[in-house]
Amino acid sequence: MRSYILAETNWQNLKDAKIELAILPWGATEAHNFHLPYATDNFEADLIAAASAKIAWEKGAKIMVLPTIPFGVNTGQSDIYLNINMNPSTQFAVLKDVIEVLNRQGIHKLIIFNSHGGNDFKPILRELGLKFPNMFLCATDWFQSLDRKKYFDIPGDHADEMETSLLLYLKPEFVLPKEKWGKGKEKKHKIKSFSEGWVWTERKWSQISKDTGVGDPALATKEKGEKFFKALTKKMSNLFIDLCNADILDLYE
Ligand SMILES: [Zn+2]
Repeated sequence: MRSYILAETNWQNLKDAKIELAILPWGATEAHNFHLPYATDNFEADLIAAASAKIAWEKGAKIMVLPTIPFGVNTGQSDIYLNINMNPSTQFAVLKDVIEVLNRQGIHKLIIFNSHGGNDFKPILRELGLKFPNMFLCATDWFQSLDRKKYFDIPGDHADEMETSLLLYLKPEFVLPKEKWGKGKEKKHKIKSFSEGWVWTERKWSQISKDTGVGDPALATKEKGEKFFKALTKKMSNLFIDLCNADILDLYE
């Protein structure tokens, strides 16, 4: 039983506890190329958050990892079988209820540990920050936190070399053999400005990729996944410790 994982701990442990920071992993349930499981983002959120929390907990940080929210925004994939969409307005409602509990019980720091590119918590946290002025709210996309070029050879953003390597390390029993891996080839927008990053539209996923992947997984290995996972959890544990130690009334210098 890990005392910093809410799903595993108990009232005996918590009735007199004082938690400083709540960590809310948030994933998605969606196809990941031909070869990775639908819960890829949830496994990543679960396991990266828990391993990061372990390091921080062992250094004295008073943290609690809440259960992973398994559904994310998949509005661009409505025609991909059994991709389960949770709308941004539903995410707002879920978060509002969670934050209400934390706020009432004096846990005034929350970090959303986001695992899915379609989830965008910025506008939601801006609005909830107004409603709960005593809360410190933040969100991290763990997949943006390290320079991926140092760990992987082929860039991508969905079921790519990075995610395949991570799953080969974390959940190899759910990765299909290499001959089943799709190429993750992405079609780009005909209007070139969209590829330059300064104008945005949602990608129609079934039109941009044949296998639902974006990014070729061909060079993925368990060893790359392990190296990346270890660097990632170290970095995230430092963030958790910094957040625990921060005085939320005195954040700037
Ligand atoms: Zn993913």
